[in-house]
Amino acid sequence: MIEVGSYVGGVWMAPGEGARDIHDAVTGERIARAGNGALDAGALLEHGRRVGGPVLRAMGFKARAKMLKALALHLSGQKEALYELSYTTGGTAVDHMIDVDGGIGTLFVFASKGVKELPEEGPLLDGEVEFFGKAGSFGGRHICVPLQGVAVHVNAFNFPVWGMLEKLAPCLLAGVPAVVKPATATAHVTEACVRMMLEAGVLPEGALQLVTGGLGDTLDRLGPQDVVTFTGSAETALKLRGTPALLRNSVRFTAEQDSLNASILGPDAGPDSPEFDLFVKEVHREMTAKAGQKCTAIRRILVPEARVDAVIEAISARLAKTVVGDPREEGVRMGALVSAGQAEDVLEKARVIGSEAELVYGGMEGFSPVGDRAVPGAFVAPHLFRADPDAARRVHDTEAFGPVSTVMGYRDIAHACEIAARGEGSLVASVITHDPAVAQEAVMGLAAWHGRVYLNDRMSMKESTGHGAPMPQMVHGGPGRAGGGEELGGIRAVKHYMQRTAVQGSPEMLRAVSGVQVKGAPEVASEGHPFRRKFGELEVGQVLQTEAREITLEDIEHFAEFTGDTFYAHMDEAAAARNPFFPGRVAHGYLLLSFAAGLFVDPEEGPVLANTGLEKLAFLQPVVPGDSISVRLTVARKKRRTAEHGEVRWAVEILRQDGEVVAEYELLTMVAG
Ligand code: NDP
Repeated sequence: MIEVGSYVGGVWMAPGEGARDIHDAVTGERIARAGNGALDAGALLEHGRRVGGPVLRAMGFKARAKMLKALALHLSGQKEALYELSYTTGGTAVDHMIDVDGGIGTLFVFASKGVKELPEEGPLLDGEVEFFGKAGSFGGRHICVPLQGVAVHVNAFNFPVWGMLEKLAPCLLAGVPAVVKPATATAHVTEACVRMMLEAGVLPEGALQLVTGGLGDTLDRLGPQDVVTFTGSAETALKLRGTPALLRNSVRFTAEQDSLNASILGPDAGPDSPEFDLFVKEVHREMTAKAGQKCTAIRRILVPEARVDAVIEAISARLAKTVVGDPREEGVRMGALVSAGQAEDVLEKARVIGSEAELVYGGMEGFSPVGDRAVPGAFVAPHLFRADPDAARRVHDTEAFGPVSTVMGYRDIAHACEIAARGEGSLVASVITHDPAVAQEAVMGLAAWHGRVYLNDRMSMKESTGHGAPMPQMVHGGPGRAGGGEELGGIRAVKHYMQRTAVQGSPEMLRAVSGVQVKGAPEVASEGHPFRRKFGELEVGQVLQTEAREITLEDIEHFAEFTGDTFYAHMDEAAAARNPFFPGRVAHGYLLLSFAAGLFVDPEEGPVLANTGLEKLAFLQPVVPGDSISVRLTVARKKRRTAEHGEVRWAVEILRQDGEVVAEYELLTMVAG
């Protein structure tokens, strides 16, 4: 019997009064109990806010990203134990990998993005500086800073590990402490994972707390700096969202709830095409993986009217080969639902769908799971229905959270999109087509109603990640019935735990706040050539102003012959003069760049290691023979890459003798020290 604890205020609490039983989904045996009526929600929240939050914020993005990586590595070494425990939730070995490896992979992705895409110091910048006057002496920019409260993560039963980690990774990276509240049915798996993470010894105290069982009055105590993210049923989301304290204090509430996802077979995909097979495989996988207990599972299968029979036949043939039973048994491909209660709920919903759809494959009649330990309670056979999409209503609003799906015929793509939209907002729709015109029409028809649209065909199928797999880099969430929230999506997810603030002021003030150069900010005094200075010695705002160099007609002709770029604007006076952009022959833009380097480079061996690229290049004014150019090179931004070197971004302006900027760009270099 597992005593599932809660980790609150730095100590583990054993289950107490009010604890609920957890049963093995396969055997029905009582295996654990979780929950505690003695939760001190005030202490829980204060521990996160006063102990965890300040330490996390002080660490900075890079240290927090490293912490995520350390957690991911630690969990990778322990995942066998999580797989083993996960069998009690009814899943197969493949299901455990989706949950456990998917969760660890999400930690790795956020760790890597944190190092690569977030600043080492200072706030996270959002967008560019905007100026409000002609002289450029007053502007504004957006910054994001971590919220100073606690994030309460209320998770669903179906992904006890991934469900926790996909919320936790961006939250901790943002610098916000979390309180994780897993669904009771699988809380023992989440608890085991939390114990492992705490044992890793990299989380500051208060950064992660766990509440198994009820949340007590936690939500009533949330304030303006706290966040709630929820995954589960629409009904619970509605109830929690309406908590007066959340409404009163404008607490952010992100919900990921019911979703009647659709998959559309393109009209071009005949029964012999690779797309037809791919479609059938994806539908089958989404019906049977996690026994259909996935928020992204395909509930509605939309195919051209003429293909309905062929699709039903092909999906049925695959389902017929799917052995359902004890997931520990050899050959079993689909396990049990998480509990007898969930199985009952799914069968009830299947009856609702069956009231207006015809069962064309599966169902409970004559079904029994394989395996000696398998007690029928939580096992549900696949159910494949067929319905008229226009006459049916419940099929578009009933989420049977199990291996239940309905095939419907559509007339054309516009009709297919309209049917998909009857789900009133879904997490994902997929379109399996090899025709770009179909893909284009379908995406434009689906996008407003879906958080993600997944296209797949013979060209992408080898590397495609699957209709049902939310990728950490891509947004996960959907409008309307799906909850209206957004999770994941790379660094976007980190911003869900941050306050975006518009900061306005002079360029000098904006530079001080953001840590990056702002056009018009005064020069920072320095001596000598900046290429002689090590990474640690360079300061944002330091400037090198070079000597001037005249550009002659011979230079232009030499450059043209040498590079082979004899474009008429550089070589033919009359033709160049007919061009509305040029007064006559002009210098090549690339000549200007090359001469600029010749002007600003310090040739001796020194700390500058490499030129790794240039960005935002713009040629603004023509340069004609006889003009002179000089270069103004400003340290614009610094980012340490290793202990030995860092990236320096220089703002480069090429100036004409009259002071006009003729070209500008950002130069990237690696600098030692
Ligand atoms: P619930 O909405 O009941 O539970 C989701 C989470 O909310 C659980 O952690 C649950 O904890 C918690 N919770 C429930 N009531 C409260 C409350 N009053 N205060 C605080 N927390 C609360 O969903 P289930 O997990 O029971 O699943 C029910 C149905 O929801 C499924 O059959 C499916 O249709 C849908 N669902 C949809 C998902 C999706 O992503 N689209 C994911 C999971 C479920 P506890 O378990 O302790 O009650």
